[in-house]
Amino acid sequence: MARLIFLGAPGAGKGTQAKALAAWGQIPHISTGEILRGAVSQQTTLGLKAQSYMDQGNLVPDQLVIALIKERLSQPDAEKGWILDGFPRNEAQAAFLDQLLVEIDQDYSYAVNLEVPDDVLVQRMLGRGRQDDTEAVIRRRLQVYHEQTAPLIDFYQIRHKLMSIDGNIPPETVTDKLKSLL
Ligand code: AMP
Repeated sequence: MARLIFLGAPGAGKGTQAKALAAWGQIPHISTGEILRGAVSQQTTLGLKAQSYMDQGNLVPDQLVIALIKERLSQPDAEKGWILDGFPRNEAQAAFLDQLLVEIDQDYSYAVNLEVPDDVLVQRMLGRGRQDDTEAVIRRRLQVYHEQTAPLIDFYQIRHKLMSIDGNIPPETVTDKLKSLL
């Protein structure tokens, strides 16, 4: 069963790689950032709650994303596999996910860590022109990554699930390496 978690800083290429692999493996690509951006643009209750955090480059409160993931992973198309992109983002979310997967009798093969130097990340994000990609917000998102998300590298290493991959090489080469994991 193909299930992967993507770790890595904002701008590391998680979205690009997760999308390519999901299409290749014919399994859902589940991006919490994409789901949240959709909720914001449709001004749903979730979107209204999440927007100010996203605009500032902060994490949306755990209870919101946890509810969202629980709902999404219980949908029928997620039974045959999934690629998680942007979740978990901190230890509380990672612990929740492990517990949820025990409950629904699923497991993942790896947490993939895409390694890219900070200066490359900033240049990439400045170049993609998303609404939350102003320089101040980019710096804040990187800080949040280092403080809250990077500790997950140890979390998954301890569980023998970590797969670190150089993300500072051409995207097609990264995709080829990742395909061998699925
Ligand atoms: P992303 O597209 O993954 O870079 O996410 C964009 C923004 O959505 C982040 O900067 C956060 O504000 C929010 N977000 C996405 N995933 C999560 C998550 N797992 N926990 C909290 N906030 C999240």
